[in-house]
Amino acid sequence: MRYLSTRGGLIGGQTSAPFSTVLLEGLASDGGLSMPENYPQAELDAWRSLSYPALCLEIVSRFVDDIPREALKAIIDKTYTPEIFGSAEITPVRELEPGLSLLCVSNGPTLAFKDIALQLLGHLFEYVLAREGRVINILGATSGDTGSSAEYAMRGKNGIKVFMLSPHKRMSAFQQAQMYALDDPNIFNLAIEGTFDCCQDIVKAVGGDAAFKTQYHLGAVNSINWARVMAQIVYYFKGYFAATQKNGEPLDVAVPSGNFGNILAAHVAKRMGLPLRRLVLATNENDVLDEFFKSGCYRPRPAEETHATSSPSMDISRASNFERYLYDCVGRDGVTVRKLWEQLTQRGGFDLTEPKYHAYWQRIQASGFVSGRSTHADRLQTIREIYRRYGVMIDPHTADGVKVGLEYRETDVPLLCVETALPAKFAATIEEALGQTPSRPAVYADIEQRPQRYAVLPADAEAVKAFMREQLV
Ligand SMILES: *Cc1c(COP(=O)(O)O)cnc(C)c1O
Repeated sequence: MRYLSTRGGLIGGQTSAPFSTVLLEGLASDGGLSMPENYPQAELDAWRSLSYPALCLEIVSRFVDDIPREALKAIIDKTYTPEIFGSAEITPVRELEPGLSLLCVSNGPTLAFKDIALQLLGHLFEYVLAREGRVINILGATSGDTGSSAEYAMRGKNGIKVFMLSPHKRMSAFQQAQMYALDDPNIFNLAIEGTFDCCQDIVKAVGGDAAFKTQYHLGAVNSINWARVMAQIVYYFKGYFAATQKNGEPLDVAVPSGNFGNILAAHVAKRMGLPLRRLVLATNENDVLDEFFKSGCYRPRPAEETHATSSPSMDISRASNFERYLYDCVGRDGVTVRKLWEQLTQRGGFDLTEPKYHAYWQRIQASGFVSGRSTHADRLQTIREIYRRYGVMIDPHTADGVKVGLEYRETDVPLLCVETALPAKFAATIEEALGQTPSRPAVYADIEQRPQRYAVLPADAEAVKAFMREQLV
């Protein structure tokens, strides 16, 4: 399997690259994102009864052909264990009532779905770096959950240092403590005076400085890393098998979305042949993607217009993985993607309902995506309603997905809502909704009281470079 850039240019300095290159490089050389040259087709009958690690091996080995299968198997087997993810199912499905279930993907070390991909990435990185005798300095941006997931996955790993940018004072106390209380010497937390989008821009700017990137061995684990999307494909298959009786039955999924990485994995699973019918995309008050799927207009907003909400991991107004989805919808034509992104820069947006884009808009409408938005009031209401009816506590992000999913629910098609975090991570909102504090795993009992280690920096790429230079002498 070779990987191409969504902008049709070079990737890792070549026209196509192998998996190991896209694993370590993040952005393609032309500023685009890496995509597999094709989607391998699923073998639903053979896969239905597999365990999580076995299913993962089948899927991942189709996207990774430059790591021997035996080595991949060993990596996957040590990643997806009941000790790390709480059960042998890894991503269990919890039925609320017939036809309505939660796909529980947040039982990893940091209590959010991002652990599923990042725990695997930690081991993949270590393997590839050791094989090639290299080191890597991971520069990432987080709105809360990616950062802690990445840090817990990379802490103590050989050859890896992590520099994680997070928006200063915009995360929950628990999220902040989870990251800033880590004292591993290979982990650096940088609190940026700005929003998540500012952090993401800085990562792009620093990564775009080719000389700096080479000199300091920069790599990425944020949601533009293809390997993360790949790892997330697995739980859509697992969830489908658990929520349906037999292959071929339709299933709708509802996904609370921010950077578009989670729902992109559902899109890829569908393209591989998984019978997902609707992909219900839920946004919070930052509703750029909802606007796009309803109107055809894509208008990312500037950082000043990004609202700080009670589902903070979705406070994103420029979803980086959206480019990958569009690449598929314009017939995988990198030149078209490049032109659309030029328009984004020059005019702040594009409108796919314009006649010249008709074919693309039709493909988008046929792709199964529908969307909706959820507000703070909706979130509270949904958390209450799910608790009252089923005695189940859901986190605010999951609530956004459930709210919008239910709006599209139809009686004859089961709906699977992705639970993207545990309520313990967002206690303040749960308390506001239910008047009670969610319980948390014992390892996190006193996390907010532990000493924190982080540096506050202005929203400026040069300041981040200077900090990194100092640490990497
Ligand atoms: C990251 C995150 C999301 C958004 O997922 P994307 O892949 O960025 O769309 C939703 N909920 C939670 C809890 C998250 O951590």
